[in-house]
Amino acid sequence: MGKFIFITGGVVSSLGKGIAAASIGKLLEARGLKTTIIKCDPYLNVDPGTMNPFQHGEVYVTDDGAETDLDLGHYERFTKAYITKDSNITTGKIYYSVITKERRGDYLGKTVQIIPHITDEIKKSIIKASKAKDVDVTIVEIGGTVGDIESLPFLEAIRQLRWELGVNYALNIHVTLLPYIRSAGEQKTKPTQHSVGRLREIGLTADILLCRTERRITKEQRDKIALFCNVDKESVVEASDVKHIYEVPIALKKEGLDDLILKKLNIKRDDKDLKDWRNLVLKRLKSPQKDIKIAVVGKYIALPDAYKSIYEALVHGGIANNARVDIVKVDSQDFEKRSLASKLKDVSGILIPGGFGDRGIEGKIKAVKYARENNIPFFGICLGMQVATIEFARNVVGLKGANSTEFDVDTKNPVISLLEEQKEVHDMGASMRLGSYPCKLSEKTLSYKAYKKESIAERHRHRYEFNNIYKESFIEKGMTFSGVNPEKNLVEIIELKKHPWFVACQFHPEFKSKPDKSHPLFKNFIAAALEYKNKKDK
Ligand code: GLN
Repeated sequence: MGKFIFITGGVVSSLGKGIAAASIGKLLEARGLKTTIIKCDPYLNVDPGTMNPFQHGEVYVTDDGAETDLDLGHYERFTKAYITKDSNITTGKIYYSVITKERRGDYLGKTVQIIPHITDEIKKSIIKASKAKDVDVTIVEIGGTVGDIESLPFLEAIRQLRWELGVNYALNIHVTLLPYIRSAGEQKTKPTQHSVGRLREIGLTADILLCRTERRITKEQRDKIALFCNVDKESVVEASDVKHIYEVPIALKKEGLDDLILKKLNIKRDDKDLKDWRNLVLKRLKSPQKDIKIAVVGKYIALPDAYKSIYEALVHGGIANNARVDIVKVDSQDFEKRSLASKLKDVSGILIPGGFGDRGIEGKIKAVKYARENNIPFFGICLGMQVATIEFARNVVGLKGANSTEFDVDTKNPVISLLEEQKEVHDMGASMRLGSYPCKLSEKTLSYKAYKKESIAERHRHRYEFNNIYKESFIEKGMTFSGVNPEKNLVEIIELKKHPWFVACQFHPEFKSKPDKSHPLFKNFIAAALEYKNKKDK
């Protein structure tokens, strides 16, 4: 049986527990341990797939087609761990399973209760996910903040698990905040004391306190926190703000967090430097030689988390090209009626990400037209491919009113539409093409040039598809269908012949990009943008 690290949060939300968990995974991996993560989300939705990105941020999709919390994206980007549908446990999922069992009569007439039935189900799900991955250490992040009513069953479940697993097999890292009160010129430890107190009330202790701070922790503060929170002084670990999330593992290593965890879990491994990662962060991420402006045109621009993986993948593409990517966020709704030209005139690449619903669609179509006509590198992703198709249909092929049936069910030219088999599905939670599907690339295309191979597999999350009856007329006008799903003959990637770099894909490449291994399409998109900029500057 592997060992467990439970991560809880105190004082306020948004302390970066997910980044902390991913960084801990990175540090343990560097020490030769195999790790995985489980994210427990205390909401009643079965998964975040049906939630508005404004509320929840991006929905991260796994290879096996689960719609999960975006924290799992951080984990895949920071580590080699393989994330699956079992990696995200929600209250909704747990209740769904318990109630299904109750209806089936599995509980043999017993009264079904939060303790033990809900907590047992949580424990079983955690153990199952951990065992399936056959890892040395499973990191379990409990969403929310200690003191929330809704996270109580999860905290009770980990209290029981810790007790059952025993010393050296489980530890609790509590991520907390030391707020700095400017007018008093002081960093306060009291909220942390209270939050550890809340943990104690429910029978949990903190083994390590990861203290988020703006300023250094003084010796006096460390002593005070240790004394009042029942932890040893070395277990009060400073986690100060850093400029970039990829610096966090380096900062935590400097504080000796990996040694501390190994000691508490009684695991012996040689120390390893994070040399490659350090190089990547300090040289290629923080002081690159070039810079480039890329526009992201979407409707959830106001919320940084809504396009998390897209923004990260652009940064990775920058790292691979020794360039800092400056992202210009363009709200497509603002440009439905007015021209985009002034907003886009300084950018060297335009990306349109995924999305649902017709808000802002005409603004996106305008952005495609601008990129196509001005030879600006263009990258369309999922809905981005669909709007690129609509734009081409209307303005190049001459199909009047061409649209997706998602936005106009009665359109005369449904260039994007549902597959026959999907038309009968009415359950929003499970009607999409989700997860990894194969794609075959044609040689001598930009896509083939990027991937350098014929067979690829990428993650999907959409309902609508390119309508194959329009294929021939599009080819005649200069579109190339460079990637196709070999089983169902579905269009996966489109390109334009008369354009330096115009690529749009039906899948989501952003989910498979990592800082030290940029996704090939993002890498080549940024390369094309740099080339465009060079030419323009001459
Ligand atoms: N709304 C589109 C569809 O369902 C695109 C989805 C997306 O971009 N993820 O097909």
